Parts: sequence; C-alpha cells; structure tokens
Amino acid sequence: MQIISIINQKGGVGKTTTVINLAAGLAQQQKKILVIDLDPQGNATTGLGLSNMQNSSDTIYGVLNGTKSISDVIKKTKVENLDLISSNVDLSGLEVETAGDNERAFLLKVKLTAYLNDSEGFYDYILIDCPPSLSLLTVMALVSSNSLVVPLQAEFFALEGVTQLLKTIDRIKINLNPELKIRGILLTMYDKRNKLSSQVEKEARDYFKEKVYITIIPRNVRLSEAPSHGMPVLIYDKSCPGSKSYFSFTDEFINQEQKIGSAA
Ligand code: ADP
Ligand code: MG
Repeated sequence: MQIISIINQKGGVGKTTTVINLAAGLAQQQKKILVIDLDPQGNATTGLGLSNMQNSSDTIYGVLNGTKSISDVIKKTKVENLDLISSNVDLSGLEVETAGDNERAFLLKVKLTAYLNDSEGFYDYILIDCPPSLSLLTVMALVSSNSLVVPLQAEFFALEGVTQLLKTIDRIKINLNPELKIRGILLTMYDKRNKLSSQVEKEARDYFKEKVYITIIPRNVRLSEAPSHGMPVLIYDKSCPGSKSYFSFTDEFINQEQKIGSAA
C-alpha cells in the first residue's frame, strides 16, 4: 500500500485531473484505490461524480476535526475499485480552528495510520489531491505520503514554482517525514504547436533528468469537459488523446513500481 500526493502549490496545473484519471486508470487495472480530496474546492469530489457533498459532514474535514472516522466517510464512486473521501468548503476553516494544536501537521497521518491498522491491505493506493497552496493541508499531505507526483504545466514560470516546492519538500523530509520521495514530475497541458511547451519540456528534463515521466499529457478539451459529467475522461471518452495519455501514464506509473519496488 502506497500513499501518494499529487502536489503543486500552483492552481490550474492539472493536479485534480491527474488524481481522477490516474485513479481511474489504476482502478481499471484491478487496483483498489482510495482518493482523498484535500482541497476545500472539492474538485476531485465533483469530478468523480459526488455532487451533493456541499452540506455534508461526511468529508475529510469531519475526520480531521475528530467527529468522524475514516471508515465513516469513504464513499463508493461510479467507477469500480475507486472509492473517495470527499471535501467541501468547510475544510478551509481547519487551519484557523487548529491554531493551538502543535501536532496538527500529523492529524491526517494519525487518522490514516489508525484506519490502515484496522483495514490492512484493502487499498493498493491512496491518492491525495492537494490544494493549490503550501498551507497546513499541503503539509499534512506531505507528512502522510510515501511519495509525490508533481504535475508541471508546460508554460512559462512553471519551473520557478517548483523550486519553491522542492525547498518545502526538503524541509518536510528533514523535520517531519524522512521517507518522503518524489516519484516523478508529469508534464501537463502540453501544446505541441507552441514552442514554449517544448522549451519547458527540455528545461525540465535537463534539470530533473529521469524524474520526468516519459508520458506527456497534451492539452485536450475532452479533459476539461469530463469533470462536468462527473466522470474520469478515461470513461467519458476513452479514445481521446487525453485518455490515451492518462492510460500510458498509468502504465508508466505501475512499471515504475516494478522497477524500483517499494522504494518508489
Ligand atoms: P489543479 O487541480 O492543479 O488546480 P485541474 O486539474 O483542476 O488543476 O485543471 C485546471 C483546469 O484545466 C480544469 O478546468 C481542467 O479540467 C483543465 N485541464 C486539466 N488538464 C487539462 C489538459 N491536459 N487539457 C485541457 N484542459 C485541462
Ligand atoms: Mg485541484
């Protein structure tokens, strides 16, 4: 069992799209998947078809404020093998509400560890969709994860933000989670007609070397349509370029595991 956060403090870089479609791709390969929506915007929640969670307390917020257990709030999605812990705007209050708690960075990890001890072996992967910030919620995700996937939008300034993210990750490794690894960097929203995209790709591959996945996610309108239908693009339109790219990313992700074992 691996806990993997999809992280980048920039908004709109393809985190949620990657969570939903990697989750769906893995689920189609008979892996048992739990997605945790850790963004108060709840985009992974609606994108996976749970559209009525706005006023619910059966969310990750309920778990983190101590009123619910993880098993209380796990919901099935329409996708077989893919479960979800949803989120809504209530989660944005957590940072202020826990201000006096010195141990709050460990809140999610403590809850997950307790749950995993009871339910050993059920899920193959837990994927955490992070908010677009380096706030408490993101720190909680970093503290709880074995490894990270960083989506990188193939646009100008993309690498600058990543430098700041890497500093944060190093700090978390030193102080809170020495096991944490960057599993890989995924180029997203790639436009092959735009020279900038290939420039960003070159820079990223020069700098991060083999950490950059071979698969590149193209800009594809089907990827932006799928969430409003509450389903992964892999189900909405399984033959569009966006789906093909997420299928091949899923394969690369699984092969990575076989190559480097649990060290991933
Ligand atoms: P984040 O979670 O990092 O904020 P999202 O995954 O929500 O980013 O993506 C931001 C917006 O761009 C969404 O509307 C999404 O549907 C759209 N989108 C994501 N990836 C692509 C892509 N490869 N091609 C076209 N649109 C995309
Ligand atoms: Mg998002």
